[in-house]
Amino acid sequence: MPVKGSCHCGAVRIEVPHAPEWVGSCNCSLCTKTGWLVAYYPDADVKVEGETVAYVWGDRMIGIHHCPTCGCGTHWKTLGEDFGRMGVHARLLDGFDASKVEVRLFDNA
Ligand SMILES: [Zn+2]
Repeated sequence: MPVKGSCHCGAVRIEVPHAPEWVGSCNCSLCTKTGWLVAYYPDADVKVEGETVAYVWGDRMIGIHHCPTCGCGTHWKTLGEDFGRMGVHARLLDGFDASKVEVRLFDNA
C-alpha cells in the first residue's frame, strides 16, 4: 500500500510504494547531525513533489535534498552512476515509528 509523507511545513510531499521494512541509520558526519533514517526504493517508485535543495557533500556522488522552507531532509539521489535506488527520509512518512522497524546500522564514519 502506498505511503505518503511530507516535510514539516508541507511544501514537499513524498509518496513511496509501501512502508519500509527496515531503515538504514548511518554514522557518517552528516547523518549523525541530521538524524536521517533512510528507506530505499527504486527511483521510479518514489514521487517527490515540491521544490527541494540538494546538498552535495565533497566528492560523494549524491545530492542530499531538503526542504528550503523548513529544512527537513527529504531524500537523496545519485548524481552520477545510477544505483537504481534512492533514499527517502523515513521519518517524514506518515505513521512511521522507528521502534516498529528494523534499524540497520551502517558504518560509514
Ligand atoms: Zn518544508
